[in-house]
Amino acid sequence: MDNSWTFVFFPEERYEKKLFCVFEVFCIFAVYSWIWFYEEVADTLFLTSCLGLLNCLKMETIKKIYKIGLGPSSSHTMGPHRAATMFAARTKNTATRYRVTLYGSLAATGRGHHTDMAITRGLAPKEVEILWRADIVKPFHTNGMLFEALDADGGVVDQWLVYSIGGGYLATEEGEVPLGITPEGEVYPHNTMRDIMEHIDREGLSFWEYVEQCEDGTLWMYLEEMWQQMQQTIEEGLQDDRVIAGGLHLRSKAHQYFVRASGFKPSLQSRALVIAYALATSEQNACGAKIVTAPTCGSSGVLPAVLYHLKKNHGFSDREILRAMATAGLFANVIKTNATISGAEAGCQAEVGSACVMAAVASNQLFGGSPKQIEYAAEMAMEHNLGLTCDPLCGLVQIPCIERNAMAALRALDINIYAMMSDGRHIISFDKVVRTMKLTGHDLPSLYKETSLGGLALDD
Ligand code: SF4
Repeated sequence: MDNSWTFVFFPEERYEKKLFCVFEVFCIFAVYSWIWFYEEVADTLFLTSCLGLLNCLKMETIKKIYKIGLGPSSSHTMGPHRAATMFAARTKNTATRYRVTLYGSLAATGRGHHTDMAITRGLAPKEVEILWRADIVKPFHTNGMLFEALDADGGVVDQWLVYSIGGGYLATEEGEVPLGITPEGEVYPHNTMRDIMEHIDREGLSFWEYVEQCEDGTLWMYLEEMWQQMQQTIEEGLQDDRVIAGGLHLRSKAHQYFVRASGFKPSLQSRALVIAYALATSEQNACGAKIVTAPTCGSSGVLPAVLYHLKKNHGFSDREILRAMATAGLFANVIKTNATISGAEAGCQAEVGSACVMAAVASNQLFGGSPKQIEYAAEMAMEHNLGLTCDPLCGLVQIPCIERNAMAALRALDINIYAMMSDGRHIISFDKVVRTMKLTGHDLPSLYKETSLGGLALDD
């Protein structure tokens, strides 16, 4: 019998000590290798495998972060309005009037979200009848809409069953309805901030130049359109003075704050104006007016307030602001690709937290921050919003959403100062905090993820 294996596993007494030492060294080596692997490699591998499917998910155009639409909700107003506009265009020569049936969640919460108003505006000027069928939930998706074009006798001449699947996106049972935004598909070669920073460092690029290289020639025109709308929304919001519809009887405050700010000393005035600008957009959003997602409807007040303030108070040019928007869009894109920007998925940290990131990086870039400082600003903006819950009263995007946008705008400006005073070195990476936000969102009970069943939304 060959005893060699027996020797290895059951060594004689004289070899036992030596082999044990070798085994011990091997174990220590293995443990340290694992620690190194975990810290240096696994961090990225885990990130990409859990959240980005081993680098298969590349990022789409940043134009999808910025979309003009009707507030207050991308799924309950922006999507339905878009569907209505598309159906109106397709039936403009055949329809005399319209009938629209709303199913599931759209029917259950659509009145509070102004879904009917958004659809009626999309189909205007023709008459529209809305049927509310919360009792019917279509298996494909809860936010179903059946558009029917009727002739003068009430006969159906055309119909379209379409779903508002979130973020302003639409789908039929055959597939997604293209947004019509170019370039299509995955346009960025990287999907983590670490890879992007390595690349721009190697090539000597700034973040906005990297965005410019990856996008098509319509980028600046598109961002210009978004910036014009952001400014228009703020200016309209500053003029409005009314009770916001929905049942909470919440009075708009932007106008009041704007007027009062003019009586303050300059140092306080500039912060007071930032609050007024953020309230202006968020209140317009709550009223169902036209806004730009940045990155969502609920968080649409943060970035425009900061940019508007930096233009008015610090004299930054529109060109500089568009470049800041490009960088802000890039950071939001990393969050969207590797985690989420949806409050329903991860709570308000994903919405207002992401908006705070966008505003912090935009202002840091405008004040001349290096890529490391910009990344630090982004990391802090998300880190200090971690765990932020979504518990809006009565399911309306009003309390705590409107004030929260103002607080996030102020916080973004404070973070900018903090990052500017640093040399950009920090321990926690932006990629890691994005991963943490996703995991935190996963661990949050659904009560705190846009269900209005917990937190502030609970009755006293
Ligand atoms: S609390 Fe919820 S609805 Fe309001 S802004 Fe945050 S994520 Fe959006």
